[in-house]
Order: sequence, then structure tokens, then C-alpha cells
Amino acid sequence: MLNIQFIRDHQEQVQQVAEQKNIPFQVDDLLEWDEKRRRLLQETESLRAQRNELTKSIAGLLKQGKDEAAEQLKGQVKEINRSLDGCEAGLREATSKFEELMLLAPNVVSEDTPIGKDDSDNVEVRRIGTPRQFDFEMKDHVTLGELHDLFDIPRGVKTAGSRSYYLKGAGLFLHLAVQRLAIDLLASRGFTPMDVPVMVRPEALARSGFFPTGKDQTYELAGEDKWLVGTSEVSLVSYYSDEVIDAALPIRLAGVSSCFRREIGSAGRDVRGLYRVHQFAKVEQVVLCENDPAASEAMLQEITGHAEEILRLLELPYRVMAVCTGDMSQKTYKQYDIETWMPSRGAYGETHSSSNLLDFQARRSNIRYRDAEGRLQHCHTLNNTAVASPRILIPLLENHQREDGSIYIPNALRPYMGGIAELVPP
Ligand code: AMP
Repeated sequence: MLNIQFIRDHQEQVQQVAEQKNIPFQVDDLLEWDEKRRRLLQETESLRAQRNELTKSIAGLLKQGKDEAAEQLKGQVKEINRSLDGCEAGLREATSKFEELMLLAPNVVSEDTPIGKDDSDNVEVRRIGTPRQFDFEMKDHVTLGELHDLFDIPRGVKTAGSRSYYLKGAGLFLHLAVQRLAIDLLASRGFTPMDVPVMVRPEALARSGFFPTGKDQTYELAGEDKWLVGTSEVSLVSYYSDEVIDAALPIRLAGVSSCFRREIGSAGRDVRGLYRVHQFAKVEQVVLCENDPAASEAMLQEITGHAEEILRLLELPYRVMAVCTGDMSQKTYKQYDIETWMPSRGAYGETHSSSNLLDFQARRSNIRYRDAEGRLQHCHTLNNTAVASPRILIPLLENHQREDGSIYIPNALRPYMGGIAELVPP
């Protein structure tokens, strides 16, 4: 959430960024309701003050036995009560409209964010490693999975519907190994690994910036006022909601969780294999730091670096993209996506997403700290994937396949593989 004073002072900028992010939001509407709310608040307060004065005068007159004069004033109080009822109802409506629209106002974007309509306008920042050229007919991850009995998609669909799967045997070991590698790396960099609630109250989703705009992507639990998170970012940010943090900043958290996504709007897209599924696992980095753009920019580079380090340990070629306005969410100030080479696509596919939100999320969640001068400030928040599986298994299996069908397992993963040093076809 932006500061309302900032919106009043930067109307054109906020309207422009809404258009650049394709968010249906009219700053004029918000400011009209803001104006109305403030006018009605003043009127209500002034009517209440008048009523208090009159009530005091009535008591005085009654003490002096001036009943007739008191009766006259009582008539005026009735009049004021009638006006107050109207004003209070108007104020309730204006406040709720104002709050609703405040939740839709987009965060501004950094100066170096590319302006563009969708992911085709994202800009490559760097490319690490070289996409592998195969001198044999390479297999895609679905074929490799069947060959090594790593997962079972048809039975996943039988049990849970489209975009579902079972992971089996070495497939499960790989899925857990990439997560353990990520957790251990983050723990060694000062992150606190956390298992988090995945069923949360709607307030947690609204305050972390996923509601109302992402509501259609979220699963609701029937009969409960609870929803399933699409990322542990929701639970990690909510951990500190309504608190004044007294720990030293930055705070580094690593959430480990299942993630659930409805993938509304993706019908027909990425239907083969494990790329786009309804349930997956993710190790997520969340950082809370001081309200200083230089500090949060440094944290953005740090968490992006961790994802890159994990990809280097997995020995996978990737590229870092500066995400353009049209491909950003409402809450994002600056974003990098990391795309890993996926041979079966003949292209890089998104595997990580790294964002700086400035104080947008902390304002919504009411997370504050005391700065060096003792003033209360909203902190900045950031998040990035450390690893998301099974999507990462696509480049892992495909890039590391050999002609004989065996699959190389990077050294960094082997300690977590339960003794499996490579995958050998039966
Ligand atoms: P996001 O939180 O949307 O930025 O996604 C972070 C990462 O989670 C992506 O880069 C993917 O690796 C993974 N991911 C997101 N959505 C899905 C999905 N529907 N199926 C599989 N992996 C996903």
C-alpha cells in the first residue's frame, strides 16, 4: 500500500504506473473518496462537538430549573442526531470505498525498470553458462521420468485432476535434495529456515498484497474462512504483521512449503509434464530490511545471487531478466526473473522470481521498526525463490541426460540423494 499523502502528491505518476502495470485503477476515484471521507470526518467531528456543548448546556439549564430552555436545546440535539446519523453512514461508506481502492493502488516502479506490455518486453541482464547442444536425440523430462520411474502424471491426474502428479523413488529424492541444498545454503547465509502455515486467513493474503488482485488464483477451503497459500511469502511476511520489530535488521527468513495455485487463465498453456502444476514445493527467501532504497537494492542483489549460486551448484545454464512493468504484480517495485535453459523447450523457462517491494507490503501488514533516531518506520520487504520443484527437475533431468539414457547428478546434490550417485536406466 502506498502512503495516501504520496498518492495525493504524485497523482500522475501513480496513474501512469497503473497503466504500465495493466491494473484497472483510477487515481481520481480514490482521491474523490479520500476527499469525501475527510470532509465527512470533519463534519461528524464538528456535529459531535456541537452536541457535547448542547448536552452540557442542557444539564446546566436543568440544574437551574430552566426546563423550558432546556427543552428547546433538546430539540436542537435531536436535529443534530439526525444529521449525525446521515454523516456517520456517509463516512462509513466513504471509508470502506477508500480502503477498497487503496488496496488496488499499484506500487511505483524503480527508474531502471523496463517499460513494457508483457514478458516479451523483459530485458536480459546477464547470461551464465551455455545451452547444451546434443549430438544425440535428447529426451524431454516426461520421457526421462518414465524411463527412470521418477514420477507418474497419469495417476496424478486420476487422483487429483489436471496438472497433478506423483513423485516416486529417485524423483522424490531429487525433489527433496534440491530443497535441502537450498535450505542449507540459505542457513549458511544467515537465513532462518521455517516451516509455515499454508492454510491462512484472508487478511494474511490481503496484507501481503495477494488479495484482492490475486484472489482468483487462490484456493479457498470450503466451509472455512481460510485459503491455501501460493507461496510461503504470505506466511513469512504475516509473521511480523502488526508488530514493531525489535530484532536487528535485516531479517532473513527461508520458508519451506507446499504452494497451491489455481492457474486460472493458463488453460492450454504448458500442459505437458511438470512445468505448470497446481501444487508444488518451494524454498522461498524473504527479507525485511531498513526503509532505505539503497539497503533494499543491496538485499535484492543478495537474494538474486543466492538463486544464481544454487543454479551454479546444479550446473545449469540460466539468464537473469529485468522484468518489465507489464509483467509485474501490483506490489512490485523492481523485479528480476531467472530463467533456466530447458532443452525440450529449446528456450529458457522461468524458475525464479526476485522482487523488492519497498515498504508497500509492510504498510499493508503494519510492520514497523525504530530507526537510529527512534522514529517508527515501515521496513522494506523482498522475496525470491531459492528453488521451486518439480519445475527445476525439468532443466535438471534434461540438461544432465547422457546418450545411454543415464542422468548425471551434480556433486552438490549427491549428499542428499540417499546414496544415489547417478540415475541409470533399468
Ligand atoms: P512466483 O512466486 O509466481 O514468482 O513463482 C516462483 C517460482 O515458482 C517460479 O519461478 C516457478 O519456478 C515456480 N512456480 C510458480 N508457479 C508454478 C506452477 N504453477 N507450477 C510449477 N512451478 C511454479
